[in-house]
Amino acid sequence: MDRAMELFPTLRRPEGKEALRFGARALTYPELAAAAAGIAEQVGSARRVAVWATSELETCVAVLGALAAGAAVVPVNPKVGERELAHIIGDSEPELLLAAPGFQPPEALGRVPVREVDLARTGSELPPEPSEDAPALIVYTSGTTGPPKGVVLPRRAIRANLDALADAWEWTEQDVLVHALPLFHVHGLILGTLGPVRLGGTVRHLGKFSSQAAAEELAGSATMLFGVPTMYHRLADDAESDPELAKAVGRARLLVSGSAALPAVEHERISRLTGQRVVERYGMSETIMNSGVRASGDRRPGYVGLPFDGVEIKLVDDAGRDIEISDDETVGEILVRGRNLFTGYLNRPDATAEAFVDGWFRTGDVATRAPDGYLRIVGRKATDIIKSGGYKIGAGEIENALLEHPSVAEVAVTGQADPDLGERILAWVVPAADPADSEATARELVEHVARLLTPHKRPREVRFVDSLPRNEMGKVMKKALHG
Ligand code: ATP
Ligand code: MG
Repeated sequence: MDRAMELFPTLRRPEGKEALRFGARALTYPELAAAAAGIAEQVGSARRVAVWATSELETCVAVLGALAAGAAVVPVNPKVGERELAHIIGDSEPELLLAAPGFQPPEALGRVPVREVDLARTGSELPPEPSEDAPALIVYTSGTTGPPKGVVLPRRAIRANLDALADAWEWTEQDVLVHALPLFHVHGLILGTLGPVRLGGTVRHLGKFSSQAAAEELAGSATMLFGVPTMYHRLADDAESDPELAKAVGRARLLVSGSAALPAVEHERISRLTGQRVVERYGMSETIMNSGVRASGDRRPGYVGLPFDGVEIKLVDDAGRDIEISDDETVGEILVRGRNLFTGYLNRPDATAEAFVDGWFRTGDVATRAPDGYLRIVGRKATDIIKSGGYKIGAGEIENALLEHPSVAEVAVTGQADPDLGERILAWVVPAADPADSEATARELVEHVARLLTPHKRPREVRFVDSLPRNEMGKVMKKALHG
C-alpha cells in the first residue's frame, strides 16, 4: 500500500516519541501501536464497534485499535441519555462496545457485549489497512432537528481532510497540541486526536478545559490549541487579569477556533491581550472541515477563510441558483462538494437524498463571500435567519453588535413569531453585571444596535437571563430559547 494512503503510518512504523498524554498518563508511539494492536485483536472481524468516549487515554486507544482492525467506530457521548443511547445502539447495531475500566453498562445498551480497554494488553502487529471507501466513523449529530442521525464518514474523507488541514496550518510532527474537547465529535476526535496521530505529533489532553492548564502547556512545549469559542472567551477573561497567562498563550504557534462562531470582539480581545490572532475554521460532522484561515493567511475577525484543499464551496439563493457575487453582503446557503464529504446518514436514505442536490451537500448554513473569497458565516438557515418586516436579518450580526456593548457578557438573538412583522427580533442577554435599571439598560442596548447597524435590525425586546442553554461544545441551543 502507498504510504500516503495509509490512515496512520505512524502506528505502522512507530518512532519513540510521546503520542498522547492525559494528565500523568501517557503513551509513546511504540506503546500506542502495541496497545492499538491489542485492541485490533479483540475487535477481530467485527465490522462496527461502539466506543464509550470518555475523555481518557483508553478512548483514543480504542478508536485507533478498532480503526486499525478495519471496523467502523461509533463514538458515544458518555453523558448520553437512555433514550438516545437506545436509538444509537438500535440504529448502528455495534457488535461490541469498548470502554475504559470501571464502565457501568446502562440498560439501554441491551445485549451489546462490552470489552474493557486494558492498555497493558498489547498485540504485536496491526492488520492490513482496509479500502479507502470503507466507513471509518459513524458520528451522531446533536439531534437538534429530530432523532440524531448517524453520519457515515469513509476513511478517504478523514485522510484527505487531515492532509488538507496539515497543509493549510503548516501542521507537522513537531506540533504539540493542547486538547480539551470531548472525543465523540469531529472536532475533538478527528482534528484533535486522529490528526496529530496521523502526522506523528503529540496530544496533551487536559481532561477539562482551564485557561491556566492550557497556558501552562503553551508556556512549555505545546505549539497549538484547538478550542471552541467558549474556551477563548474564558481565556480572554483570565488573560485580562493575568499578564503571565496572556504571555504564555501568545507563545502558541497557532490558536484555532471552531464548532461555533467566534465573536469578532472575542477575536480582537485575544489579539489585544496575547498578541495572537485566532485562526477560525468552519466544519461539521457531515463534511469534516470545509474552510478556514491558513496559518499564513489574513486572520480577519469574523471570517472562516477559504475552502480547504479538495473542498469546493458555493453559495446559492433560496431558489437554488448560484450566487456569483462576492460583495461580503449578499447571503446564500453554503453548498459543499469534495473528498471530505460523508457517504450518507446511516439507515436514512430519505434524509440523505434530501441533503444533496446534484452531488452538492446542503449545509443549512448561510454565509457571505468577500471579494477575496473569504467566507463569513451569518448563521443557520433554520434558526439564525430572522425574517422581520420584509427583511432577512442574520442573528449573528446582531449578536456581534450587542457583544460590543460593555453591559453584555453573552447573547443569543432569536426570531419570535409576530403578526405584524412576521418575526420580531428578540435578544437574550446575560448581563456583564446585574443591571441597576434593567429597563434602561434594555433601551440602551436596542439603541446601540440601531446606531451600529441599521434601525430595522434592532431587537424589539431584550430579556436578561442568568445563562444561555449550551451543549458540551459550548454551542447555544437556540431551539431551547422560547419566546
Ligand atoms: P445537528 O446537525 O444535529 O443539528 P450540529 O449541526 O450542531 O447538530 P455539528 O455537525 O457538530 O452539529 O456542527 C456543525 C455546525 O456548527 C455547522 O453547520 C455550523 O452551523 C456550526 N459551525 C461550525 N464551525 C463554525 C464556525 N467557525 N462559525 C460558525 N458556525 C460554525
Ligand atoms: Mg448539523
